[in-house]
Amino acid sequence: MKRFAFVLFLAVLVLLAILFVNTYRKGSKQLQGVNTASPLELPDSIINHLAQAIRFRTVSNADPSQMDSAQFEKFIAYIGKTYPLIHSKLKLERVNQFGLLYYWQGSNPQLKPALLMGHYDVVPVIQGTERIWKYKPFAAEMAGDILYGRGTLDDKVTVMGILEAVEHLLKTGHQPERSYYLAFGQDEEVSGLQGGKQIAELLKSRKVQLEYVLDEGGVIKSDGIPGLEKPIALVGVAEKGYATLELSVTGEGGHSSMPPPQTSIGVLAEAIDRLQKKPFQARLGGAIGHLQDYLAPEMPLGTRLAMSNRWLFKPAIISMISQSPAGNASVRTTIAPTVFNAGVKDNVLPIEASARINFRILPGDSVEGVVAHVKKAINNPQVKVEKLGQFDSNPSPISDTASLGFRLIHRSIKRCFPDVLVAPNLVVGATDSRYYTGLTNNIFRFVPVRMNDEDLKRVHGTNERINKGDFKNVVTFFVEMLKGDRGEKVKG
Ligand SMILES: [Zn+2]
Repeated sequence: MKRFAFVLFLAVLVLLAILFVNTYRKGSKQLQGVNTASPLELPDSIINHLAQAIRFRTVSNADPSQMDSAQFEKFIAYIGKTYPLIHSKLKLERVNQFGLLYYWQGSNPQLKPALLMGHYDVVPVIQGTERIWKYKPFAAEMAGDILYGRGTLDDKVTVMGILEAVEHLLKTGHQPERSYYLAFGQDEEVSGLQGGKQIAELLKSRKVQLEYVLDEGGVIKSDGIPGLEKPIALVGVAEKGYATLELSVTGEGGHSSMPPPQTSIGVLAEAIDRLQKKPFQARLGGAIGHLQDYLAPEMPLGTRLAMSNRWLFKPAIISMISQSPAGNASVRTTIAPTVFNAGVKDNVLPIEASARINFRILPGDSVEGVVAHVKKAINNPQVKVEKLGQFDSNPSPISDTASLGFRLIHRSIKRCFPDVLVAPNLVVGATDSRYYTGLTNNIFRFVPVRMNDEDLKRVHGTNERINKGDFKNVVTFFVEMLKGDRGEKVKG
């Protein structure tokens, strides 16, 4: 017995040793010793440029014939007038009419070009919610230092931020070594099929290979995350895939006074219930694994120990993360029944019942895997399962945090925001950058705007707004990205 207790004691000691070695073996992954950028001489008027850009109602529509193309033309004319150096020194191609592709020739043809992108379309303001906006959504009014309007965050801040940065650099006579593309889509909010996708296809047809792509997707989470109150720049290194399945059941119909045990509505409802009770398996690898590697050394001891020993604490970490919808979305493929159609009259048995289920697919899973999971979970031949298909996409590959693009982003963030931690992350929504897979392995998704949980709700929501200082920071960040890019010489 004594001997057993001794062996147990030894085993506990060994385990503790392993846990602590893992915890302290890896130090901080934050770039150290980066000099803070000196403030740029940017005129206050740049916020007026963004304000004017907001006033064009560039609302995209899944049916391109329904978009107000005059507004898009006016936006393009406005940036042409506002950024004269860009429009005299860079080459502009209009792709499929409203997609904008600029090319800035670098001095060193040995370097692969890079691509900065964003979209200038916006989502509509939901009818009836205009009243709850503090200022009219397309009036672009300033309240003190805050500019209100649809698109201030998503995503005219990126488009105008890149344009301001490039115009500023041209004014100072800067000549990049690397060539740069700037790509701005007109329909990201309705899938990007007309804009982002066409621009990417054009570059593919020209056999272009890119060093890196930087799109929207991640922000600076100013209120941190549970356990870490410091602001964190979450740089998307991967994004989830997308699929919508239609489930349908055909019943007999007839008079509701003599119903069968289950109508088509009952069969379909039961199928959805079964599916929801069989969630996809949660995983901690991939982009979320990288996120934890970056955050662990910054965490208080207990969390640091758990995050550094995921081989042991994985179930506990997953159950903690899964408690919030946002956390849950980061560790598994999600299931969202979004549309249910059935029945015509209260005394008539329904014939057709159908529902749409939207899935956001975790890297590692696939559209086909989702279909198989759904069929297995429902396990009822009466329920037809079909892909809607139009917007389906598999999850993106995971971009390399050791690549030049990520190091450049990391360094530029530290130069502009010395108080901020940098971490790679998984983007749970879809961006136009997914069309660029194949043009580069290094696709990143980040705009350096500070947002807390409240601000995040304004994206696609009510009272979308940006602080004047935040917009200046975005411009400074893009200037740093472009000026700091010295080919392979970027350190750290
Ligand atoms: Zn967007």
